[in-house]
Amino acid sequence: MLFKHILQRLFKATLTAMSKFNVVFVLGGPGAGKGTQCQKIVEEFGYVHLSAGDLLRAERAKEGELAEMIEGHIRNGTIVPVEVTCQLLRRAMQESCKNDFLIDGFPRNEENMSGWQKEMDDKADVKFVLFFDCPEEECVKRCIKRGLTSGRTDDNEGSTRKRIVTYNTSTTKIIDHYNSLGLVRKINAAQDADKVFMKVREVFSQR
Ligand code: UDP
Ligand code: MG
Repeated sequence: MLFKHILQRLFKATLTAMSKFNVVFVLGGPGAGKGTQCQKIVEEFGYVHLSAGDLLRAERAKEGELAEMIEGHIRNGTIVPVEVTCQLLRRAMQESCKNDFLIDGFPRNEENMSGWQKEMDDKADVKFVLFFDCPEEECVKRCIKRGLTSGRTDDNEGSTRKRIVTYNTSTTKIIDHYNSLGLVRKINAAQDADKVFMKVREVFSQR
């Protein structure tokens, strides 16, 4: 009887775990290397990479009613309301028909985090937060360099400095929160991409 009960419980727990998405949040300042490293993780570990910024830029490109609002936030380095971002993420996750996701550049503030919890806690497990730690001046240098080819309206010194202010005032608190839960894997991002990935690989190999 007891054995049957345990089996039933185990079965139910397995089903619940299987039907939930696995999520790794990827955070760090602008230009810290989140996107670059995510590509490498996709190649080696088979995750689906969802960049919140890329999803917002794609939404902006549709020139619908949200386009202007999104562009304003991107240029100013401020944060788009979570309803918009979270819906884009959820849709992309559901449409991919996959299970393991790198969510890059989200959650960036408390509103993002609580909005995610409200909408996604029953649909996704946050396994850990991959945090790319990069000095401010290095971030600025990288974004200006990227701006030569990226075509991004925020890869200039002015917008990058604003993004860094937002990062320092809002996003670091989110990283601290996950750190207090023991969920942050911190990587020194001030090295070349291959060296950084050696550390990233260690994190994902442990799983
Ligand atoms: N953004 C946002 N919410 C998000 C992710 C991005 O509002 O969850 C906006 C924000 O204005 C940010 C910009 O999109 O400054 C660019 O974000 P992205 O993650 O592409 O920049 P990165 O950190 O990769 O340089
Ligand atoms: Mg990025």
